[in-house]
Amino acid sequence: MSDLTPLQAVLNARSPLSADGAAGRRGCPLSDLRDRLRRAGLRPTRQRLSLGWLLFGRGDRHLTAEMLYDEAMRAKVPVSLATVYNTLHQFTEAGLLRQLALDGSKAYFDTNPTEHHHFFLEEEGEVLDMPECGISVDSLPDAPEGMEIAGVEVIVRLRRRAVSGRG
Ligand SMILES: [Zn+2]
Repeated sequence: MSDLTPLQAVLNARSPLSADGAAGRRGCPLSDLRDRLRRAGLRPTRQRLSLGWLLFGRGDRHLTAEMLYDEAMRAKVPVSLATVYNTLHQFTEAGLLRQLALDGSKAYFDTNPTEHHHFFLEEEGEVLDMPECGISVDSLPDAPEGMEIAGVEVIVRLRRRAVSGRG
């Protein structure tokens, strides 16, 4: 988390493979990201790399377009909010992100596209992954004729407890 290399330094760096020809130098996050975009069928443009770096460089996260746009502004990435929206939707269509239906007014995007469950802190608008042992869904209805269940994602909505015995 704290070892995130400054974005511009990363984008300006040459590919480690072409720099010294050592095929053994692996694990460069930026070349990983390039490969990841290519494998998903997306051309690794500078904008996609910049936004992908912000999205995927810090572990599993849940963001709205506005949150990512704020991060891009702080990292001095020259993008518009419209570009951020478009890129998030392209990443989602390519299977790199998963869009979460949590709050009708805002789309949240999850950098972990595999099926998992969430806590949603309604007042803060914050999304947390539920611990893996957090829930067990073992009694589902039969799917309607001709259908099968593709997945189950549970959202547990949280609010702060009222503090008793005070003001
Ligand atoms: Zn999640």
